[in-house]
Amino acid sequence: MKNEYIPFTIEKQKRIALIAHDGKKSELVSWCKKNKKILQQHFLCGTGTTAKLIAENTGLPVKGYNSGPLGGDQQIGAKIVEGRIDLVIFFSDPLEAQPHDPDVKALLRIAQVYDIPMANNRSTADFIITSSYMNTEYVHEVINFNKNIESRVNAMMK
Ligand code: PGA
Repeated sequence: MKNEYIPFTIEKQKRIALIAHDGKKSELVSWCKKNKKILQQHFLCGTGTTAKLIAENTGLPVKGYNSGPLGGDQQIGAKIVEGRIDLVIFFSDPLEAQPHDPDVKALLRIAQVYDIPMANNRSTADFIITSSYMNTEYVHEVINFNKNIESRVNAMMK
């Protein structure tokens, strides 16, 4: 199908979402401290508790959404859909059950749908933060939601 995907530009200055489950919060804070020089060149946001912990321990400005279990992951997912988040660093805890597991899965899924780079552990975050794309624009192909609706509507009327 023509125009199924459209090019989107991730600007040089990135809008980065930071999230960590409780068992991984100290790891994410220390990762942010280590990468403070790079992170301060971008716009940061995160789920409530994670955002506050990072801001207090690093001095970086981090816009906080609701806490994850209270819908913060969904807020970040919605921002991805709106094209307002470029990159997600999410230190999830694979060894601890989460009450908001469906929200976590939804966030992973929507990041995939919109081709958003997402790190779910420290090594992936290291690879991303040292990528040359952190200092340049990056154009990627994102699903054309208008075209998608048009095709679906046409298919329903056959
Ligand atoms: P929190 O949420 O930063 O408010 O703890 C993170 C999460 O558990 O998804």
